[in-house]
Amino acid sequence: MEQALLEILKEKCGKDIREASDQEIYAALLCIVKDRMKGMKRNEGTKKLYYISAEFLIGKLLSNNLINLGVFEETREVLAKYGHDLTAVEEVELEPSLGNGGLGRLAACFLDSIATLGLPGDGVGLNYHDGLFRQTFVDNKQREEANPWITEQSWLTRTDCHFEIPFKDFTLTSTMYDIDVPGYQNGCNKLHLFDLDSVDESIIHDGIQFDKEDIQKNLTLFLYPDDSDEKGQLLRIYQQYFMVSNAAQLILKEAQEKGYDLYRLHEHVAIQINDTHPTMVIPELIRLLTQEKGFNMDTAIDVVRKTCAYTNHTILAEALEKWPISYLEKVVPHLLPIIRELDARVRRDYHDEKVYIIDKENRVHMAHIDIHYGYAVNGVAALHTEILKKSELKPFYDIYPEKFTNKTNGITFRRWLVHCNPKLAAYIEKLVGPEYMQDAAVLEKLLEYKDDETVLKNLRAIKKEAKLELKKYLKLTQNVDVDENSVFDIQIKRLHEYKRQQMNALYAIYKYKEIKKGNLPRRPLTMIFGAKAAPAYTIAKDIIHLILCLQQLVENDPQVGPYLKIVMVENYNVTKAEKLIPACDISEQISLASKEASGTGNMKFMLNGAVTLGTEDGANVEIHELVGDENIYIFGEKSEKVIELYDTASYCSADIYDNDPMIEELVDFIISKELIRIGDPVNLGRLYKEIVGKDWFMTLLDVKDYIKTKERMLEDYENEKAWEQKMLVNIAKAGYFSSDRTIAEYNRDIWHL
Ligand SMILES: *Cc1c(COP(=O)(O)O)cnc(C)c1O
Repeated sequence: MEQALLEILKEKCGKDIREASDQEIYAALLCIVKDRMKGMKRNEGTKKLYYISAEFLIGKLLSNNLINLGVFEETREVLAKYGHDLTAVEEVELEPSLGNGGLGRLAACFLDSIATLGLPGDGVGLNYHDGLFRQTFVDNKQREEANPWITEQSWLTRTDCHFEIPFKDFTLTSTMYDIDVPGYQNGCNKLHLFDLDSVDESIIHDGIQFDKEDIQKNLTLFLYPDDSDEKGQLLRIYQQYFMVSNAAQLILKEAQEKGYDLYRLHEHVAIQINDTHPTMVIPELIRLLTQEKGFNMDTAIDVVRKTCAYTNHTILAEALEKWPISYLEKVVPHLLPIIRELDARVRRDYHDEKVYIIDKENRVHMAHIDIHYGYAVNGVAALHTEILKKSELKPFYDIYPEKFTNKTNGITFRRWLVHCNPKLAAYIEKLVGPEYMQDAAVLEKLLEYKDDETVLKNLRAIKKEAKLELKKYLKLTQNVDVDENSVFDIQIKRLHEYKRQQMNALYAIYKYKEIKKGNLPRRPLTMIFGAKAAPAYTIAKDIIHLILCLQQLVENDPQVGPYLKIVMVENYNVTKAEKLIPACDISEQISLASKEASGTGNMKFMLNGAVTLGTEDGANVEIHELVGDENIYIFGEKSEKVIELYDTASYCSADIYDNDPMIEELVDFIISKELIRIGDPVNLGRLYKEIVGKDWFMTLLDVKDYIKTKERMLEDYENEKAWEQKMLVNIAKAGYFSSDRTIAEYNRDIWHL
């Protein structure tokens, strides 16, 4: 590494490494690492996976690639030798803006684990130029800006692979870009990102506005462009078809290049459909096989059905895509005869309109295509899969019980421990040996140290250092001061009512009022939030406004400030997550039971020694089972009860509000004169009305138990040894949540690579 670095800096910049800037060193490392990956062994086999996903939230790649190539430490030492700091060099890299939240991050962790397990499997997605959006705060409100991330030198490699993508009114020529995905001490796979040469960033104005009809210029500008109107929905259909037609053509091309018999495609290819966005790959493959490869319809359907598998990520109705036939007619009319044929076959075989593909309102249910015409359906945590089988997808489970399996999500420990928390990783390695990197179950050996005072103290010291690091980072990036001796209580995830950031905000109000009354906490509390709200999601933006107003209120109150700090981190993304998670004491996982399919943030926090405050939801249930009652704080109504409340329409937030003076006081504070003075009465008033009048995700149902449990948790924090033991048990039991385990299960039960 040293030699390569010195040479390339000399050659490209004519500089001695000592004089090189971070920018120049980054460029040199990028070059060296890309070159090494080019020379790596490819993961090969007779069957290959294509993981198609609208999002890949991959995060910065430099450190992760160095780790997986086994040269991270060496590189850090070489840089240090010449007076440079790898962390500073990393700051130069822009985070690829190719994802939105958990689903996209999961896809990224999966690519890492697939390569690490030596399995042949590539990702397929789109190369969004400006990502989701970059979030800034202005007047205590979210503002969205374009988030360009593609620089002249980047991890992307342009290929000479192009496909013709037919739409109703025109045909577009794609270009494929590749990003190498090196496995940890194993071969390399690829992430294929499709793009259009004609895309034009200059059509963006006023934040993230652009002409939604100029498809040749806008197709890959943004991930999830606003679809609150017809033009936006049509654009999403354009994007989805562009993604899957490219995928389908790539798959057939590679299969033919390898000389495979397309009638045996399923023996050589598995396609994982990540959520419903890539669903059109099914009719598109059938179209290509029948129209270009001479298949008859029965055979094409049979082969495709044996090739495609579907992952369900949510039971939220609004997320299960249903496209009006009239919209599909405007964009991809050539798919409709096939979709109608698929629907006709379902109607012939099953007489239950709940499982039809085309409904009475002439909408196409994408998930229904996946379930009928794929060979596997999986949920992403045990509870989620049970809910799919018992209620959400019950009519399908009754038809195809053999298709349904659970694959509890996971995270890659290379990024979420070794990279983001090197000190903890090094200490764990010292205690249990380096094997845990390949076999995460080895982490359980930590339990042997549960009563070892030195180990416990060291864990606390490592946490304290991480808190100091975060303190520096927050000062530098947002100019806020936090107290490293306070409890760090963190909720970072997309903003959504079901995740209930509003409930956490009500806790902040509770604490504020307590302090005002003179009930001072023993130790200051730092509440940290990070969340982007979808640009058209009004209430989510109102919740951000409330949190920012509370932040300002507390900050400017000399009576409260010393005891309570609220920090909303701007533009939450992978890079920020990596700084926040190692420093966390309390991990907030407070979704309404039954609504969070799995969560993966919960796993990252646990692995880094935070203790979960959560509902019995998603993977929290499995965390609870693993660590036991002592080492997690569970509150709130269970999913059965919540589902019953929905089924019987018997939840009424106004009743709770009217009958509980404490809750009334907390909610009323949203429109108090203190907050109205700081904030916008329209936003605060609307949020107040939403909570009192509707509260679809039942904040008021759980808020009291939540406050009580959090207070108990803060008290327990003061029992140092007991808390350190909780940290240790959480780390020790996190092995189950390695995405290596998850991927081994996908391969064993679904892909058979
Ligand atoms: C892990 C992660 C998520 C998912 O968090 P949840 O708490 O599971 O919703 C979202 N965004 C980023 C940047 C992440 O790293």
